[in-house]
Amino acid sequence: MITIAIDGHSSCGKSTMAKDLAREIGYIYIDSGAMYRCCALFALEHGLIAADGTIDTAALEALMPEIQVSFRLNAETGRPDTYLNGENVEQRIRTMEVSSHVSPIAALPFVRAAMTAQQQAMGREGGIVMDGRDIGTAVFPDAELKIFVTASDEIRAQRRYDELVAKGQPADFQEVLDNLRERDRIDSTREVAPLRQAPDALVLDNSHLTIEEQKQWLLEQYFKLTH
Ligand code: C5P
Repeated sequence: MITIAIDGHSSCGKSTMAKDLAREIGYIYIDSGAMYRCCALFALEHGLIAADGTIDTAALEALMPEIQVSFRLNAETGRPDTYLNGENVEQRIRTMEVSSHVSPIAALPFVRAAMTAQQQAMGREGGIVMDGRDIGTAVFPDAELKIFVTASDEIRAQRRYDELVAKGQPADFQEVLDNLRERDRIDSTREVAPLRQAPDALVLDNSHLTIEEQKQWLLEQYFKLTH
């Protein structure tokens, strides 16, 4: 069993691709972004982020050992839900509030060190598909299959906006677009494990692909490598 790393910009459909592939080939899917979202939720709920966005980094660093993220299959949806310290936080980590605070939290070196260690432990045996920003470059630099996904800003914002509306969450298109541009900017310019295409990654621009087409493309890459 191999390790599959799927990286790319915010809201480009990485998780849909990764989930579909994992289900198809019987691998475990891990959403590394959900883990950073848990850190942001934890910081918000512990009052560690001031109204102006300033993070109490000393307090967060001291509390990092208390952040344990795990995933459990939801029998109803057939998809894994995210658990923070044993509590299902799948819905709470997907709000705009968490989205607007997650990138500065994910840029903190001690947060990355803790989450990277948890991700490497989850993937030790192989047989996983993990999506994120630094999976092929920092978490699993030896992954056998690396994909770098992208799509135009507007198309990505429209997809995320539709997702929020479908869930009945309040959404404003411009706010969603500004948020994903800002997250991309922070993710690409941070010092530790910035969002970068690994030199050995295959690039997929899915701006004009359907979910089914991208699924087929990804399956082909997997079968080329393993058969
Ligand atoms: O994938 P998702 O958009 O849910 O990720 C939320 C945020 O977590 C990203 O905007 C990024 O700041 C951070 N992240 C990261 N490294 C990863 C995955 C996500 O820094 N491997």
